[in-house]
Amino acid sequence: MSEKAEPTTRKISSIYLMIILVTIVLAVTALSIGVNAYYENPQDASAVSFMLIGFIALALSAYMLLQTQRKPSRAAFEMPRVITTILCQKCGFKNIRDFQRGDFIFKEAESCPKCNEKMMIASIYREVKEKEK
Ligand SMILES: [Zn+2]
Repeated sequence: MSEKAEPTTRKISSIYLMIILVTIVLAVTALSIGVNAYYENPQDASAVSFMLIGFIALALSAYMLLQTQRKPSRAAFEMPRVITTILCQKCGFKNIRDFQRGDFIFKEAESCPKCNEKMMIASIYREVKEKEK
C-alpha cells in the first residue's frame, strides 16, 4: 500500500481565494486594455470585447467572493455547550459543570463538599452564547 497525500479542506479555500484574486487581476487588466484601446480607436471592436470580458470576469470574481462569505465557517460546526447544575438539597450548595453522558435531572450526584450530603442534578441546559460582533 502506498501513502497518498490527503488534500485538506482548508487548503482548498485558500486556493479558491487565490483563483478569485487572479480573476480580479485578469479582469482589471482586460478592462484597462479595453479602455486604452477604446481611447486610441473607438471603432475598434476588440476594445469593446476586452471591456466586456473584464466586466464579466469582475462580476464573476465578485460573485465568487460573495459565495465564500456566505459559507458558514467554524461556527456552524461548534457544538453548543451543555451545562449540568448540581444542587445540594440540604444546604443549597450549587455546582455547575459540563454535561456528562448519563446525566439526567434528579439523578444523584457526588457528595456535597460543604455538608457531605448527596447532591442532585437540578437542571441540564444548553449554554446560549452571545454572538460576537
Ligand atoms: Zn450541602
